Amino acid sequence: MTQTEYKIYIDDIIRRVESARLKVSGHHIVKIIAVSKYSTTEEIESLYRIGQRAFGENKVQDLKAKAAALEELPLEWHFIGNLQKNKINNLLDINPTLFQALDSLELAEELQKRLLAKDMQLDCLMQINSAREASKHGVNPEDALTTYAQIEQKCPNIQLKGVMSIGAHSKEREVIKKSFETTYEIYKQLPNATICSMGMSGDFELAIECGSNMIRLGSLMFNK
Ligand SMILES: *Cc1c(COP(=O)(O)O)cnc(C)c1O
Repeated sequence: MTQTEYKIYIDDIIRRVESARLKVSGHHIVKIIAVSKYSTTEEIESLYRIGQRAFGENKVQDLKAKAAALEELPLEWHFIGNLQKNKINNLLDINPTLFQALDSLELAEELQKRLLAKDMQLDCLMQINSAREASKHGVNPEDALTTYAQIEQKCPNIQLKGVMSIGAHSKEREVIKKSFETTYEIYKQLPNATICSMGMSGDFELAIECGSNMIRLGSLMFNK
């Protein structure tokens, strides 16, 4: 695809996001995170030239390499993957805009220690395993409110901004919808939360209709 063709392709995705968000309300704003985990720095630059600023990676070493290679560009980096304790310091060295996959109180407490030692604050989302899938990380829905409050109370260097979920792994729209609704119900009960991150290439319209205000698009944004 030429750059012009790519722009037309991206405009079509934006139109899909627009019509989904307008079904919720004209005031419902949705932010797109371009997940670049399958993409090269050249491909990230092409998307940047069309106007995309927020990118996401799910491996600390990839985030580090791409953020370093593109450091002259005013990009926003989101870490959306599972964070192993031995990678915490590497992640903090990159100082991402948002860590979206804080998935336990235990990880939060470890992160808190490192943040305190470095005198840093980090914006995070708590990941909820709304479909209760063994293959997925995240706090179980029934524990979500308690765990969120515990992190807020015990981890002053973590700024919780809301929640993140991956939709149910299913072909049935109703099953996926239920998983998004579960996360949104929890989100609505969190007084200071402003971000509900859910929806990927295959299910973002449904996620937006269920209340998502941040979608994470990988294969679709990069036309893979
Ligand atoms: C890979 C990934 C995405 C993007 O997936 P696509 O289906 O390619 O849009 C979104 N969120 C998380 C957590 C991911 O790991």
